Amino acid sequence: MPAHKNDIRNLLAKYRKHCIGDPSGLAEAQRYITSMTDKALAEYKTRKASGFSSTTTPPRRKKGSSSPKKKTLWSEFYEYASPTNENVTGKSIRNHIRTLIEAEQHQQCCYCRRPLLNNAYAKPIEHILPHSIFVQHTFNILNLSISCVDCNSKKSDDVWTAHGERFWRTTRYPTARAFSDMYHPRLHRYDEHIKFFRVQSNTHCISIYTGLTPQGIKLCEKLLTHISKLEVFVSANSELKKHIQTLQDEQSQPGSAAGDAIEAFKKAFDKATEAILEDV
Ligand SMILES: [Zn+2]
Repeated sequence: MPAHKNDIRNLLAKYRKHCIGDPSGLAEAQRYITSMTDKALAEYKTRKASGFSSTTTPPRRKKGSSSPKKKTLWSEFYEYASPTNENVTGKSIRNHIRTLIEAEQHQQCCYCRRPLLNNAYAKPIEHILPHSIFVQHTFNILNLSISCVDCNSKKSDDVWTAHGERFWRTTRYPTARAFSDMYHPRLHRYDEHIKFFRVQSNTHCISIYTGLTPQGIKLCEKLLTHISKLEVFVSANSELKKHIQTLQDEQSQPGSAAGDAIEAFKKAFDKATEAILEDV
C-alpha cells in the first residue's frame, strides 16, 4: 500500500510554506526554489533534445584537464547567497529542508532505519532517483529523503529500477505503484516492505534485514545486507570505529583544510571495505 495521499499533500504544503526558517526570507526563498526548478526542467529539455537517455553516462573530465568541472544544479543551489537578504542562502534552505524531512522520518535513515547522527555531514539529502540522471527531479520534494552516510555512499548514483528509461522520459514524477521493483522511501511504507531487528551489546551492534516484497527484497540485496556486514565489521574493530568518528567530526568543522583529503580517504576506504565484504 502506498503512503497516504494526505501525508504527501501535507509534506508538499510544508515544503512550500516553510522552505526556510526565517519568515522574512520566505517569499524570496520560494522564488529561488521555483527558479531552480525551472532551470532543472530546462536542463532536462536540453539533454533530451541532444539525445541523452537514462543510461547515458555524462562525460567525465579527463585527468589533468584544465577545463572547469561543470557544476550540478544541486551544488549551485548549495552555494547560493541572496544579494538582498543575508539569511536567504542555499545552505539555509537546504538545512531547513533536511530538518523538515528528518522529522518526518523520526530522525532515522530512510533505508537502514538506524538513528541519524547529529551533524549535517552525517545525514546527506538523498536523491532517490539520482539527480545526475533524473535532473528534472533535482528539487522535487518527493525525490528527496535523508539517509545515513553509509547508505548514501553505497547507493551513490545507482538506479535501482528496471523502469529507469520510462521514468526518464517524462517530467511527471512516477507514482508509488510505478516503483514496482524498487523501494521508495517517500512513497512506500517501510514496514510493509522490510522487517528488521537489531541487537546491541556493549561492544557490538548487529542488524538483520528481511525483505517482505519484491521492493524490500531488492533493497536488501542492493544495500541492507551490505550495511549489516559493514556494521559488524566496524563495530568489531573498536580502534577503527574511534578513528572513523574522529574523521567524521573533523570533516564537519567548517572550512576544514583536511576536508578533501578525508573525503578521498573515505572513498578509498569504502572501496577497500567493499572488496573485503564481498567475500564474507
Ligand atoms: Zn542508512
